[in-house]
Amino acid sequence: MCTDAKRTDSPISNDFLSPATCQQLVTRKQPDQNLHQIELPPLVTAQRIQKLQQYLLQWYQENGRDLPWRHTQDPYKILVSEMMLHQTQVDRVVPKYQEFLAVYPTFETLAAAKVEDVQDLWRPLGYNFRPGRLHQIAQYVVTQCNGKLPNNIEGLMALPGIGRYTAGAILSFAFQQDAPILDTNAQRILQRYFDVTGDPFRVPAKKQLWYLAERVIPSGKGYVFNQALLDFGALHCKARNPSCGLCGLYRLCPFGQSQLAAL
Ligand code: SF4
Repeated sequence: MCTDAKRTDSPISNDFLSPATCQQLVTRKQPDQNLHQIELPPLVTAQRIQKLQQYLLQWYQENGRDLPWRHTQDPYKILVSEMMLHQTQVDRVVPKYQEFLAVYPTFETLAAAKVEDVQDLWRPLGYNFRPGRLHQIAQYVVTQCNGKLPNNIEGLMALPGIGRYTAGAILSFAFQQDAPILDTNAQRILQRYFDVTGDPFRVPAKKQLWYLAERVIPSGKGYVFNQALLDFGALHCKARNPSCGLCGLYRLCPFGQSQLAAL
């Protein structure tokens, strides 16, 4: 069975009911992340980035998983899938995702439900704080946002349970933006391939990885490239026993070379 990534969102903000309206959130610009100040590892070159893009897109075309949330661009359904995938493996999420959407197909139906009923339906997935947050989001979106999820990072991250990873996933999978995502799968691939050193959850490595997650997206292909990153990390460049011997990136990848040299 494949290993799926842990979604690595930040701790939850509960200030989403502050006076900032949804419209204000939608029209604000994304925060300046001072990306130009980031010092990058020497292996980050345009040529290596291009090779990564080409290889992952090709690999995904041949090996990508057929998952139900890849058949929709409905922001609500993408949100449900991303909330369910937090810390939970794909094969457990698939049946619950379908069951959940059959009962609560829209923000409106979810917002109108009793939170206890939503929690009961969700319970076998674990991490049972998530349905309450999803219910809160639905109520907020229905009452404050005209039933529409914000389509920018700041608006999304003001919602409970949505950190930078989930916001990026929604922007790229629901709104077709070239937004970066960095779960543990993407993090691992980028860290190995570009030889990013240090703790990926702390600066400077964390900043470098977020920069790279944005920089490696081929223009206009955020949806497919980010899906490729997720699957490549889950199925091929795994945390344990990565398939370096079968990987077309091997000659450019210092981690892959060290793995094979050790055999
Ligand atoms: S060579 Fe190995 S570590 Fe490098 S990208 Fe490929 S599978 Fe991952």
